[in-house]
Amino acid sequence: MIIGGLQKLTLIDFPDRLAATVFLAGCSFRCPWCYSSELVLPEKIGKHPTISEKEFFDFLKEKQGLLDGVVICGGEPTTDNNLPDFAKKIKEFGYAIKLDTNGTNPAMLENLIDKILVDYIAMDIKAPFAAKFEILNPKFGISNYERAVGVKVDLEKIRKSVKIIKNSGIDYEFRSTVVPGIHTKEDIIQIAKDISPAKKYYLQNFRPEKTLDPKFEKIRPYRREYLLEIQKAISPFFDICRIR
Ligand code: SF4
Repeated sequence: MIIGGLQKLTLIDFPDRLAATVFLAGCSFRCPWCYSSELVLPEKIGKHPTISEKEFFDFLKEKQGLLDGVVICGGEPTTDNNLPDFAKKIKEFGYAIKLDTNGTNPAMLENLIDKILVDYIAMDIKAPFAAKFEILNPKFGISNYERAVGVKVDLEKIRKSVKIIKNSGIDYEFRSTVVPGIHTKEDIIQIAKDISPAKKYYLQNFRPEKTLDPKFEKIRPYRREYLLEIQKAISPFFDICRIR
């Protein structure tokens, strides 16, 4: 595993847990608004400081009894085939695990769930994926999901991940960063329809800071009122629907 960062304490990223967050390098997407290009682009990963697995596990050992959760995020953690072994080791230290994923590796999700190596999953939904939205966007010549994530996408895998997570019996959430120029209110309403019924769906406002595509640093985020309007329209689809 390439560990590109460690946040030693988070009170907000893992519901009901005092957690640390470990950032793994490597990602299957290239979302233009991504804030973590140093964990995504190979040329940047190579120059970014890393911490060793030993250092990470020494930290977990030291914090036993003080922290009770680990958030594994990235990048996209499921791109590394060593993730199950890594998660198993974290579990052996007595920590609960939250996994942040973009849903591109449903087989890995299934494996982690079956082996009880994950306690909470948060999956990003990047764009609508209903059949009518899969058609080529004439303006851009690619599908909406591909425009949002900057690479070719197997939407069947995204759909499968949503299904696996909803049927997993473990706690979960879906979430979307709402980016002007990529998403409109109608897109988010369609996403809500695509993934509902579901327990929790969070909307995150885009922040124009150190984005993977520098052009996105000039984009102004939507006003909060607009997000509230979207939230009101999609709330009936979920048990919980909030803006973060
Ligand atoms: S925002 Fe997109 S490119 Fe960045 S880490 Fe997440 S999935 Fe990868």
